[in-house]
Amino acid sequence: MTDTVLAVLNQPSRAAAPHDPEADAFIWAKPLEEHIQVMDLGLTRGDGVFETITVIDGRPQALEAHLARFGRSAAKLDLPEPDLDAWRQAIEAACARLDPVREAYAKTVLTRGVEGLGRPTGWVYAAPSADQTRDRTEGIGVVTLDRGYRHDVERTSPWLLQGAKTLSYAVNMAGLREAVRRGADDALFVSTDGYVLEGTRANLIMSVGGRFVTPRTDIGILDGTTQADVFRFAEQEGIETAYELVTLDDLRAADALWLVSSIRQAAPIHTVNGVPQEMDLGMTERINDFLLSRQD
Ligand code: PLP
Repeated sequence: MTDTVLAVLNQPSRAAAPHDPEADAFIWAKPLEEHIQVMDLGLTRGDGVFETITVIDGRPQALEAHLARFGRSAAKLDLPEPDLDAWRQAIEAACARLDPVREAYAKTVLTRGVEGLGRPTGWVYAAPSADQTRDRTEGIGVVTLDRGYRHDVERTSPWLLQGAKTLSYAVNMAGLREAVRRGADDALFVSTDGYVLEGTRANLIMSVGGRFVTPRTDIGILDGTTQADVFRFAEQEGIETAYELVTLDDLRAADALWLVSSIRQAAPIHTVNGVPQEMDLGMTERINDFLLSRQD
């Protein structure tokens, strides 16, 4: 047993030949050693897709929703369809192999493969998560950043791959660094035509007059598994939910705001562009209790 476990899939997509016809469905490997080749297009061009899945007490959460999005992201990039049964098996095996820990994560990566071979590469690794207590209980500050695209980019320019969870996260990480330079913890991207989109690695949920509202998912943002489960929680509690176009004025008028994502779960927002924002810490705790006790 090690802190991080890595499984490399022999045949990540049924449409492509296995890497080794004799080998098992996946092989256990040592992280960062020998199995991922330097000419892999996932490394050299960020040409691939991924998922990050929360693992609680060894159990992956929202697994089917993550697998479904993995398939949708792959389709957007014209990658061979991932064999979701093989991926599910590798994820569950990696989680089972982790040292016992309350919170961990599993990451799935599917790339276009080594240049010239025409065969995708796939691997799963699992590792313990960093402590998220501070974000969940004290809240985070965000700044709004222009994403440089209109809110209808997914329809007008599908080749920009907005809404796919691609490996090209350099822009997201640059947004995060810019947020930190401006004294915040994270950024909230806004479209050039003024609609609030998503965080660098999270979705926004607002509490507005007793309703939960999140930006529509057809505006070039990820359809979040955590956001969907927060809406499931809300519906159980009799809280109305809605997907809407959200403006900066709507953001300013909200009663409470959260960034939600796998690993972090729900982090209340305490400032937007330096302006204090009311937090609902009681609701935050209930949301996080719900998210952390998910059984599927
Ligand atoms: N939006 C972006 C850009 C993300 O990278 C993520 C997650 O990493 C999310 C939203 C939230 O998705 P999920 O809740 O499925 O983790």
